[in-house]
Amino acid sequence: MDRVALKLRFEDKFQPVPWTGCWIWTAATKEHGYGVIGLGSRKDGTIKAHRASYLLYKGDIPEDKVVMHLCNNPMCVNPDHLKAGTRKENQQYMVKLNRHKTPDNRGEKATWSKLKAEDVVEILAHRYSKVRGTGKALAEKFGVSRSAIYEIWRGKNWKSVTEWK
Ligand SMILES: [Zn+2]
Repeated sequence: MDRVALKLRFEDKFQPVPWTGCWIWTAATKEHGYGVIGLGSRKDGTIKAHRASYLLYKGDIPEDKVVMHLCNNPMCVNPDHLKAGTRKENQQYMVKLNRHKTPDNRGEKATWSKLKAEDVVEILAHRYSKVRGTGKALAEKFGVSRSAIYEIWRGKNWKSVTEWK
């Protein structure tokens, strides 16, 4: 694997979110809302984007470990928000943050896969808007539910990040 080439491609595929510090993956995603990136040629296959981030910025992933999201945002690839842990640690952490309950296809997951980082930034910019119907207008613009907009405004999806540090 050519790490230099991988890093160049990687750095083209995320958008940092100022408020949370998350680097939101903007390229291809796969099941469970994780980003993916090709390792090089087609036959080399793909790797999950957050694992690629760990490899590129932190080093090899110990064989018995998984890469956990400390920020609870599966689309995030900021190495500072990633940690190698055992499967058990990851499980416990997700239970703590309630993420194990996520097989809700219409809720958060769908919101994540539809919204890009810049959309979230735009939604957040209207957070304190006093204009009636702003939530509805944003929901229509981005094709998500109104409650998804309110959740972003309340920081529900992002809270664990802002409270982490
Ligand atoms: Zn993050």
